Amino acid sequence: MRRLSILLLIHSSFVFSQNYTRQDSLRGNLTPIRTCFDVTYYHLQLSVKPENKHIEGFSDIHFKVKSNFTKIQIDLFENMNISAIKFEGENLNFNREFNAVFIHFNRLIKKGEQTNIQVYFNGNPREAVNPPWDGGFSWKKDENGKDWIGVSCQGLGASSWWPNKDHQSDEPDSMLISCQVPAPLKCIANGNLRFHDLRKSTMHYNTFHWFVSYPINNYNVTLNIGDYTSFSDKYISGDDTLALDYYVLPYNKEKAKEHFIQVKPMLECFESYFGKYPFWKDGYALVETPYLGMEHQSAIAYGNDYLPGYHGNKRFIAGLDFDYIIVHESGHEWWGNSITTNDIADMWIHEGFCTYSEVLYVECIYGYDTMLKYIKNQRRSVRNDKPIIGPYHVNKEGSGDMYQKASLILHTLRTLIDNDLLWFEIIKGISTNFKYKTINGQEIIDYINQRSGKDFTSFFNQYLKNKDIPEFQYRLIKNGREVALMYKWEAVEGFEMPLLINFGNEDNWILPVNQWKEVSLGVVDIDDFRVVEELFFIDIKKVD
Ligand SMILES: [Zn+2]
Repeated sequence: MRRLSILLLIHSSFVFSQNYTRQDSLRGNLTPIRTCFDVTYYHLQLSVKPENKHIEGFSDIHFKVKSNFTKIQIDLFENMNISAIKFEGENLNFNREFNAVFIHFNRLIKKGEQTNIQVYFNGNPREAVNPPWDGGFSWKKDENGKDWIGVSCQGLGASSWWPNKDHQSDEPDSMLISCQVPAPLKCIANGNLRFHDLRKSTMHYNTFHWFVSYPINNYNVTLNIGDYTSFSDKYISGDDTLALDYYVLPYNKEKAKEHFIQVKPMLECFESYFGKYPFWKDGYALVETPYLGMEHQSAIAYGNDYLPGYHGNKRFIAGLDFDYIIVHESGHEWWGNSITTNDIADMWIHEGFCTYSEVLYVECIYGYDTMLKYIKNQRRSVRNDKPIIGPYHVNKEGSGDMYQKASLILHTLRTLIDNDLLWFEIIKGISTNFKYKTINGQEIIDYINQRSGKDFTSFFNQYLKNKDIPEFQYRLIKNGREVALMYKWEAVEGFEMPLLINFGNEDNWILPVNQWKEVSLGVVDIDDFRVVEELFFIDIKKVD
């Protein structure tokens, strides 16, 4: 423990010189002992004891062997105990370093084999400090004094509570979550309730088996334990029916029935932009949680207290009245859950596209002009503190600008593509082509370049790999009755981005570069000149 805290201190003081610890690399780097196997299925079985904040169970890890090995790495936080690791009926040796677990096999495991191990574990998992951002287990009580428990672990890692290969690049094709809780509490996890096991349920315990029939990334796996009641609805699209399940505390049921009415129009909007809800067979669900929210796949954590905006803050959503948590977290079902990045350095694909899905939701429900107000409001949250793309292979995200700034970047891109039909084809194309896949951010950029027929390399370099946004500098010069415009970009080397200006009736494209250019605007009123600012995310400086 001591060594760990010293390392963490060293780490935080060197954070700007990009030194990362052994621990960061163990988690973030894909070494041969992690790439030699591909997880196909997890069965996580556990029993939760709220009275002593304790969990116990096993993780049955099924995998396909990609290359021969005798040793692999899985992950489980060092404060959690491992009592045994079983393979073909025998106990395997293992050793641990920080949150990594190295498993030594008793024979050579050969490429092409499909096999499994069971990791038996127990302990007191990390408690959430400020969920969902500083996550872990939330052990709370509801208003009736009954246990109300949730788990959020994005960033922190699923290995904070159960053994798995804790890297975003490897998702199982499906998963079974078996959860035993003291009666009469219920356990709600991801996917569909396969069965409520009466044989394994006693007077004292209830066991629930939830099956996820799609790939799922580790941080999306969750449990919600409480005195839940539920109600259902249906979303009908063409010939298909999507089950909507809502799990709430009994005293909020009537409020929830009224409040969740906004789900169906939202799904309709998202479906029109991004294609069908990706986890159709598993259904869509909101589960009331003791923390604000989280995009848990097919079991979205909802803790916005049935308020509009961001927990009642409507300024955050430009004065509109929708429930921000429902819209944002549901957007993640397409962006982050269906499409997941291999490295968290590329998390802007999750958060940027999801935050942009709010923009499209506003356009769909409230219209184009309100959308422009909404996107303008997003500027208030941008910090330009560091690049949006983080360092690769060390389990580090880039700037928090991956939310609103990345959304503004996509809005700018729509303007530059200058063809809404094509823009919406591209957006839907990304969502459907990369569905259920783990990808690198660059693949999305390549796709946009290819589909649009334009090269946005310098655009993405400026906006994602540098902290500053481009500054449009200009000067207006009067020559008698004629006006000349001088203009350039203050931006990264080689940055070229067309820009819309207006000096009378219609918008006109110009192509500023890094050097000054000059163009005659003809006979115009100098006061009529403006940059069509609302369609771009740029700084503007008038030079005298
Ligand atoms: Zn998000």
